[in-house]
Amino acid sequence: MKLVVIPGDGIGPETMAVTLDVLNALDQRFNLDLKIEHAIAGKESLAKHGTTIAPGLLELVKASDGLMLGPMSTYEFKDESKGEINPSKYFRINLDLYANIRPAKTFPNVPTRMDPFDLVVVRENTEGFYADRNVESGNSEILVTKDVVISLRRITRVCCERIAKSAFELAMTRKKHVTIVHKANVLQIADGMFIDICHEVGKAYPEVKIDDFIVDAMMALVARDPGKFDTIVTTNMFGDILSDLTAELSGSLGLGGSLNAGDHFAMGQAAHGSAPDIAGKDIANPFSLMTSAAMLLNWFGARKQLNNYVLAAQALEKAIEEAIDARETTKDIGGNLGTSATGQAIVKKILLAA
Ligand code: NAD
Repeated sequence: MKLVVIPGDGIGPETMAVTLDVLNALDQRFNLDLKIEHAIAGKESLAKHGTTIAPGLLELVKASDGLMLGPMSTYEFKDESKGEINPSKYFRINLDLYANIRPAKTFPNVPTRMDPFDLVVVRENTEGFYADRNVESGNSEILVTKDVVISLRRITRVCCERIAKSAFELAMTRKKHVTIVHKANVLQIADGMFIDICHEVGKAYPEVKIDDFIVDAMMALVARDPGKFDTIVTTNMFGDILSDLTAELSGSLGLGGSLNAGDHFAMGQAAHGSAPDIAGKDIANPFSLMTSAAMLLNWFGARKQLNNYVLAAQALEKAIEEAIDARETTKDIGGNLGTSATGQAIVKKILLAA
């Protein structure tokens, strides 16, 4: 597998460094024949090339089999004309990575107030209330006067259909339960269409139980009893918010792994941001990025029918579970190791199990 790796901003270089160590250990044990291409984007690229995405980067990524993207300080990238492009948006749009799969589950030894749960948020990734990805040119936020702003949200049939299909396909491999999350009481036409399409797509999966909830009620229901849910499908912004909540309810945002998948390419990327408040302190939890790497290996293995990749993904997930059991983790989930030592504990487990 030809894999492009971009460390990102803030805690990205620290968590990506240990994730790379883990990928190398998996390569050694499962003969993955990984060909890693190191690249940069975000602040490092802005300082070096005057743009967060340097010319040729997209071509490099397109010529590969997958991308590991570190977290980006997107809030600091305000003006595309000054090279301040949001790298997450850039790859999601240019590679058409429409399905953002964000699992969240509890572990016996991670402190949380919740009863055990295991769910996944399937978030549409290419349109919705994200002004930077709705129009061919420019931005769908409009400054009408200096005191009036209109932010437009695009919802299309094709994007609803494909995200619904992703959710039902995933649900078939899980507990066969899809929950549609929407705001059709207010966004009647767009979210009305989203619900209708999800139900329509669901007809091809008669074994799957379907229900739907308004997003504000859903926040309360998830905070009360996340164990009631399995596969949750929703539009872009609702999924972004809901998945940070579910990751945190599982114990820490630092557990939030995610895969951005299209029909032909996938990108592993932690659900959280660049966490500048803890950057450079060797305390960031690397499990979110490692879980994202496991999801990417699994996606590649399933697509290419390469069982060693699927086994490598499972071994990484198992090593994370064992580290959590042994409390060999960062402080946010109850351990007392740093990022780097947590990474080495995972490497050791992977190599010792060989
Ligand atoms: P954040 O997700 O970076 O951090 C929120 C909180 O979670 C912070 O307290 C942080 O310390 C904690 N946290 C995050 N990751 C952690 C980890 N691995 N281990 C332990 N704790 C962790 O959100 P923010 O502070 O609002 O945003 C910082 C920057 O990241 C902003 O520029 C924002 O735009 C950007 N952002 C990028 C992405 C992305 O690249 N996909 C996603 C969200 C936010």
